[in-house]
Amino acid sequence: MAKPPYRIDSGERVNLAKLDPRDDGGWEREAAEARAEELGRELEDLQELQYAAGDHGLLIVLQGRDTAGKDGTIRYLLQHMNAQGTRIQPFKVPTPKELSHDFLWRVHAVTPGRSETVIFNRSHYEDVLVVRVHNLVPESIWKERYEMINDFERLLVKSNTIIAKFMLHISKEEQEERLLEREQETEKAWKLSVGDWKEREYWDAYTEAYEAALERCSEVPWHVIPADKKWYRNLAITETLVEILRPYREGWMEKLGKVGERAKAELSDFRAQAPRRA
Ligand code: ADP
Repeated sequence: MAKPPYRIDSGERVNLAKLDPRDDGGWEREAAEARAEELGRELEDLQELQYAAGDHGLLIVLQGRDTAGKDGTIRYLLQHMNAQGTRIQPFKVPTPKELSHDFLWRVHAVTPGRSETVIFNRSHYEDVLVVRVHNLVPESIWKERYEMINDFERLLVKSNTIIAKFMLHISKEEQEERLLEREQETEKAWKLSVGDWKEREYWDAYTEAYEAALERCSEVPWHVIPADKKWYRNLAITETLVEILRPYREGWMEKLGKVGERAKAELSDFRAQAPRRA
Protein backbone atom coordinates (compact mmCIF):
# COMPACT_ATOMS: atom_id res chain seq x y z
CA MET A 1 0.00 0.00 0.00
CA ALA A 2 1.54 3.24 -1.11
CA LYS A 3 0.23 6.35 0.60
CA PRO A 4 -2.26 7.06 3.36
CA PRO A 5 -5.17 7.22 3.87
CA TYR A 6 -5.38 3.49 3.21
CA ARG A 7 -8.44 2.21 1.42
CA ILE A 8 -9.28 -1.42 2.15
CA ASP A 9 -11.23 -3.08 -0.63
CA SER A 10 -12.93 -6.44 -0.73
CA GLY A 11 -10.53 -9.38 -0.51
CA GLU A 12 -7.55 -7.37 0.76
CA ARG A 13 -5.44 -8.64 3.66
CA VAL A 14 -4.76 -6.16 6.44
CA ASN A 15 -1.72 -5.94 8.66
CA LEU A 16 -2.13 -2.89 10.88
CA ALA A 17 1.50 -3.10 12.02
CA LYS A 18 2.48 -2.13 8.48
CA LEU A 19 0.33 1.01 8.45
CA ASP A 20 2.11 3.76 10.35
CA PRO A 21 -0.23 5.72 12.66
CA ARG A 22 2.27 8.61 12.68
CA ASP A 23 2.18 8.98 8.90
CA ASP A 24 1.27 12.42 7.60
CA GLY A 25 1.34 11.65 3.89
CA GLY A 26 4.34 13.97 3.50
CA TRP A 27 2.34 17.09 4.45
CA GLU A 28 3.55 20.01 6.54
CA ARG A 29 1.07 20.99 9.20
CA GLU A 30 0.26 24.47 7.91
CA ALA A 31 -0.26 23.37 4.32
CA ALA A 32 -2.37 20.41 5.47
CA GLU A 33 -4.62 22.67 7.53
CA ALA A 34 -5.11 25.06 4.62
CA ARG A 35 -5.91 22.18 2.24
CA ALA A 36 -8.33 20.66 4.76
CA GLU A 37 -10.16 24.01 4.98
CA GLU A 38 -10.41 24.17 1.21
CA LEU A 39 -11.73 20.61 0.98
CA GLY A 40 -14.02 21.37 3.91
CA ARG A 41 -15.73 24.04 1.82
CA GLU A 42 -16.20 21.53 -0.98
CA LEU A 43 -17.59 19.02 1.50
CA GLU A 44 -20.08 21.60 2.75
CA ASP A 45 -21.15 22.28 -0.79
CA LEU A 46 -21.52 18.59 -1.69
CA GLN A 47 -23.46 17.81 1.45
CA GLU A 48 -25.85 20.66 0.79
CA LEU A 49 -26.53 19.21 -2.68
CA GLN A 50 -27.07 15.76 -1.15
CA TYR A 51 -29.49 17.28 1.35
CA ALA A 52 -31.41 19.26 -1.23
CA ALA A 53 -31.54 16.55 -3.91
CA GLY A 54 -33.12 14.15 -1.42
CA ASP A 55 -32.04 10.99 -3.21
CA HIS A 56 -29.33 9.67 -0.87
CA GLY A 57 -28.60 9.29 2.79
CA LEU A 58 -25.00 9.62 4.01
CA LEU A 59 -23.68 7.34 6.74
CA ILE A 60 -20.26 8.06 8.21
CA VAL A 61 -18.95 5.27 10.45
CA LEU A 62 -16.20 6.18 12.93
CA GLN A 63 -14.35 3.40 14.69
CA GLY A 64 -11.11 3.49 16.66
CA ARG A 65 -9.60 2.53 19.98
CA ASP A 66 -10.17 4.68 23.05
CA THR A 67 -8.58 8.15 22.58
CA ALA A 68 -8.26 7.58 18.81
CA GLY A 69 -10.02 10.91 18.25
CA LYS A 70 -13.59 10.04 17.34
CA ASP A 71 -15.01 13.01 19.27
CA GLY A 72 -12.43 15.42 17.84
CA THR A 73 -13.14 14.19 14.32
CA ILE A 74 -16.86 14.77 14.81
CA ARG A 75 -16.20 18.31 16.11
CA TYR A 76 -14.05 18.99 13.07
CA LEU A 77 -16.52 17.54 10.55
CA LEU A 78 -19.41 19.49 12.02
CA GLN A 79 -17.67 22.72 11.08
CA HIS A 80 -18.10 21.64 7.48
CA MET A 81 -21.50 20.08 7.52
CA ASN A 82 -24.98 21.32 7.20
CA ALA A 83 -26.44 21.27 10.74
CA GLN A 84 -29.87 20.79 9.23
CA GLY A 85 -30.19 17.12 8.38
CA THR A 86 -27.04 15.99 10.23
CA ARG A 87 -27.22 13.77 13.30
CA ILE A 88 -24.58 12.25 15.58
CA GLN A 89 -25.33 8.74 16.76
CA PRO A 90 -23.21 7.26 19.59
CA PHE A 91 -23.30 3.55 20.38
CA LYS A 92 -22.87 2.60 24.03
CA VAL A 93 -23.13 -0.69 25.91
CA PRO A 94 -26.48 -2.12 24.72
CA THR A 95 -29.46 -1.77 27.03
CA PRO A 96 -31.41 -4.91 28.11
CA LYS A 97 -34.07 -4.03 25.55
CA GLU A 98 -31.49 -3.70 22.78
CA LEU A 99 -29.93 -7.00 23.85
CA SER A 100 -33.25 -8.72 23.59
CA HIS A 101 -33.20 -8.07 19.81
CA ASP A 102 -30.77 -9.03 17.06
CA PHE A 103 -27.54 -6.98 17.16
CA LEU A 104 -28.47 -4.87 14.14
CA TRP A 105 -31.87 -3.85 15.44
CA ARG A 106 -30.71 -0.74 17.26
CA VAL A 107 -28.42 0.17 14.38
CA HIS A 108 -30.89 -0.11 11.53
CA ALA A 109 -33.36 2.13 13.32
CA VAL A 110 -30.96 5.07 13.31
CA THR A 111 -29.51 4.88 9.80
CA PRO A 112 -29.97 7.99 7.65
CA GLY A 113 -33.06 8.45 5.53
CA ARG A 114 -32.71 10.14 2.14
CA SER A 115 -31.36 13.68 2.59
CA GLU A 116 -30.00 12.89 6.02
CA THR A 117 -26.43 12.54 7.22
CA VAL A 118 -25.67 10.44 10.28
CA ILE A 119 -22.27 10.11 11.92
CA PHE A 120 -21.90 6.87 13.89
CA ASN A 121 -19.62 7.34 16.91
CA ARG A 122 -18.82 3.61 17.24
CA SER A 123 -21.20 1.37 15.35
CA HIS A 124 -22.40 -2.16 14.58
CA TYR A 125 -18.68 -3.05 14.41
CA GLU A 126 -18.54 -3.04 18.23
CA ASP A 127 -20.39 -6.34 17.91
CA VAL A 128 -17.31 -7.91 16.34
CA LEU A 129 -14.75 -5.82 18.28
CA VAL A 130 -15.41 -5.37 22.01
CA VAL A 131 -17.78 -8.34 21.89
CA ARG A 132 -15.12 -10.57 20.31
CA VAL A 133 -12.26 -9.34 22.53
CA HIS A 134 -14.24 -9.91 25.75
CA ASN A 135 -16.19 -13.00 24.67
CA LEU A 136 -19.48 -11.25 25.38
CA VAL A 137 -21.15 -13.84 23.21
CA PRO A 138 -19.73 -17.23 22.12
CA GLU A 139 -17.43 -17.33 19.11
CA SER A 140 -20.01 -19.33 17.15
CA ILE A 141 -22.27 -16.25 17.36
CA TRP A 142 -19.84 -13.39 16.63
CA LYS A 143 -18.20 -15.37 13.82
CA GLU A 144 -21.42 -15.23 11.82
CA ARG A 145 -21.79 -11.50 12.24
CA TYR A 146 -19.27 -10.50 9.56
CA GLU A 147 -21.52 -11.85 6.82
CA MET A 148 -24.57 -10.36 8.48
CA ILE A 149 -22.84 -6.97 8.51
CA ASN A 150 -22.00 -7.35 4.81
CA ASP A 151 -25.63 -8.19 4.04
CA PHE A 152 -26.82 -5.26 6.14
CA GLU A 153 -24.48 -2.77 4.45
CA ARG A 154 -25.45 -4.13 1.04
CA LEU A 155 -29.09 -3.52 1.88
CA LEU A 156 -28.33 0.06 2.93
CA VAL A 157 -26.31 0.75 -0.22
CA LYS A 158 -29.07 -0.68 -2.43
CA SER A 159 -31.46 1.64 -0.66
CA ASN A 160 -29.43 4.72 -1.64
CA THR A 161 -27.24 5.09 1.42
CA ILE A 162 -23.72 6.28 0.78
CA ILE A 163 -21.49 4.68 3.42
CA ALA A 164 -18.06 5.99 4.42
CA LYS A 165 -16.24 3.87 6.99
CA PHE A 166 -13.23 5.17 8.88
CA MET A 167 -10.91 3.44 11.29
CA LEU A 168 -8.84 5.98 13.24
CA HIS A 169 -5.49 4.28 13.66
CA ILE A 170 -3.36 5.44 16.61
CA SER A 171 -0.17 4.06 18.09
CA LYS A 172 0.09 2.57 21.56
CA GLU A 173 2.51 5.33 22.58
CA GLU A 174 0.15 8.07 21.41
CA GLN A 175 -2.69 6.48 23.33
CA GLU A 176 -0.63 6.49 26.50
CA GLU A 177 0.21 10.16 26.02
CA ARG A 178 -3.43 11.05 25.47
CA LEU A 179 -4.56 9.09 28.52
CA LEU A 180 -1.91 10.75 30.70
CA GLU A 181 -2.91 14.15 29.34
CA ARG A 182 -6.44 13.54 30.58
CA GLU A 183 -5.09 13.09 34.09
CA GLN A 184 -3.04 16.25 33.97
CA GLU A 185 -5.44 18.68 32.32
CA THR A 186 -8.47 19.66 34.35
CA GLU A 187 -10.55 20.41 31.27
CA LYS A 188 -9.92 16.91 29.93
CA ALA A 189 -10.30 15.08 33.25
CA TRP A 190 -14.00 14.40 32.67
CA LYS A 191 -12.95 11.94 29.99
CA LEU A 192 -10.83 9.94 32.45
CA SER A 193 -11.87 6.36 32.84
CA VAL A 194 -10.11 3.44 34.45
CA GLY A 195 -11.84 1.35 31.78
CA ASP A 196 -9.60 2.92 29.12
CA TRP A 197 -6.47 1.70 30.95
CA LYS A 198 -8.04 -1.74 31.33
CA GLU A 199 -8.93 -1.91 27.63
CA ARG A 200 -5.34 -0.95 26.79
CA GLU A 201 -4.24 -4.31 28.20
CA TYR A 202 -6.16 -5.94 25.36
CA TRP A 203 -4.28 -3.96 22.70
CA ASP A 204 -3.23 -7.01 20.66
CA ALA A 205 -6.61 -8.70 20.85
CA TYR A 206 -8.17 -5.48 19.52
CA THR A 207 -5.59 -5.36 16.71
CA GLU A 208 -6.66 -8.86 15.67
CA ALA A 209 -10.33 -8.00 15.92
CA TYR A 210 -9.86 -4.82 13.86
CA GLU A 211 -7.90 -6.67 11.20
CA ALA A 212 -10.64 -9.28 10.91
CA ALA A 213 -13.38 -6.65 10.63
CA LEU A 214 -11.44 -4.64 8.05
CA GLU A 215 -10.72 -7.74 5.98
CA ARG A 216 -14.06 -9.44 6.21
CA CYS A 217 -16.34 -6.42 5.89
CA SER A 218 -14.81 -4.39 3.10
CA GLU A 219 -17.43 -4.87 0.42
CA VAL A 220 -18.12 -1.27 1.34
CA PRO A 221 -14.49 -0.16 1.58
CA TRP A 222 -12.85 0.83 4.84
CA HIS A 223 -10.48 3.76 5.15
CA VAL A 224 -7.67 3.42 7.67
CA ILE A 225 -6.67 6.91 8.78
CA PRO A 226 -3.30 7.44 10.47
CA ALA A 227 -4.49 9.41 13.49
CA ASP A 228 -1.53 10.23 15.73
CA LYS A 229 -1.39 13.67 14.13
CA LYS A 230 -4.80 15.23 14.46
CA TRP A 231 -4.23 17.76 11.69
CA TYR A 232 -3.39 15.00 9.23
CA ARG A 233 -6.36 12.93 10.40
CA ASN A 234 -8.68 15.88 9.68
CA LEU A 235 -7.24 16.35 6.21
CA ALA A 236 -7.38 12.62 5.35
CA ILE A 237 -10.99 12.23 6.45
CA THR A 238 -12.20 15.37 4.72
CA GLU A 239 -10.40 14.43 1.53
CA THR A 240 -11.80 10.89 1.56
CA LEU A 241 -15.34 12.11 2.14
CA VAL A 242 -15.07 14.60 -0.69
CA GLU A 243 -13.76 11.87 -2.99
CA ILE A 244 -16.66 9.61 -2.06
CA LEU A 245 -19.27 12.33 -2.67
CA ARG A 246 -17.85 14.00 -5.80
CA PRO A 247 -19.13 11.37 -8.28
CA TYR A 248 -22.71 12.15 -7.17
CA ARG A 249 -22.43 15.91 -7.78
CA GLU A 250 -23.54 15.86 -11.38
CA GLY A 251 -26.63 13.74 -10.71
CA TRP A 252 -27.67 15.92 -7.77
CA MET A 253 -27.17 19.10 -9.81
CA GLU A 254 -29.23 17.65 -12.64
CA LYS A 255 -32.03 16.67 -10.28
CA LEU A 256 -32.03 20.10 -8.64
CA GLY A 257 -31.95 21.78 -12.05
CA LYS A 258 -35.11 19.88 -13.02
CA VAL A 259 -36.79 20.72 -9.73
CA GLY A 260 -35.94 24.39 -10.35
CA GLU A 261 -37.34 24.24 -13.90
CA ARG A 262 -40.57 22.72 -12.61
CA ALA A 263 -40.91 25.39 -9.96
CA LYS A 264 -40.32 28.12 -12.55
CA ALA A 265 -42.93 26.60 -14.88
CA GLU A 266 -45.45 26.43 -12.02
CA LEU A 267 -44.74 30.02 -11.12
CA SER A 268 -45.21 31.23 -14.68
CA ASP A 269 -48.49 29.25 -14.97
CA PHE A 270 -49.62 30.83 -11.76
CA ARG A 271 -48.80 34.30 -13.03
CA ALA A 272 -50.44 33.61 -16.37
CA GLN A 273 -53.67 32.70 -14.60
CA ALA A 274 -53.55 35.75 -12.36
CA PRO A 275 -51.75 38.48 -14.35
CA ARG A 276 -52.42 41.11 -11.70
CA ARG A 277 -50.05 39.30 -9.32
CA ALA A 278 -47.10 39.43 -11.75
P1 ADP B 1 -16.89 6.59 24.12
O1 ADP B 1 -17.42 6.08 22.80
O2 ADP B 1 -16.67 8.07 24.12
O3 ADP B 1 -15.73 5.82 24.62
P2 ADP B 1 -18.25 5.51 26.38
O4 ADP B 1 -17.09 5.78 27.30
O5 ADP B 1 -19.63 5.65 26.92
O6 ADP B 1 -18.14 6.39 25.08
O7 ADP B 1 -18.02 4.06 25.78
C1 ADP B 1 -18.99 3.36 25.15
C2 ADP B 1 -18.71 1.90 25.45
O8 ADP B 1 -19.74 1.12 24.91
C3 ADP B 1 -17.40 1.41 24.83
O9 ADP B 1 -16.62 0.80 25.80
C4 ADP B 1 -17.88 0.40 23.80
O10 ADP B 1 -16.98 -0.65 23.61
C5 ADP B 1 -19.18 -0.06 24.42
N1 ADP B 1 -20.06 -0.64 23.41
C6 ADP B 1 -20.57 -0.08 22.30
N2 ADP B 1 -21.29 -0.98 21.59
C7 ADP B 1 -21.25 -2.14 22.27
C8 ADP B 1 -21.78 -3.43 22.05
N3 ADP B 1 -22.51 -3.71 20.99
N4 ADP B 1 -21.54 -4.38 22.98
C9 ADP B 1 -20.78 -4.12 24.07
N5 ADP B 1 -20.24 -2.92 24.34
C10 ADP B 1 -20.46 -1.94 23.45
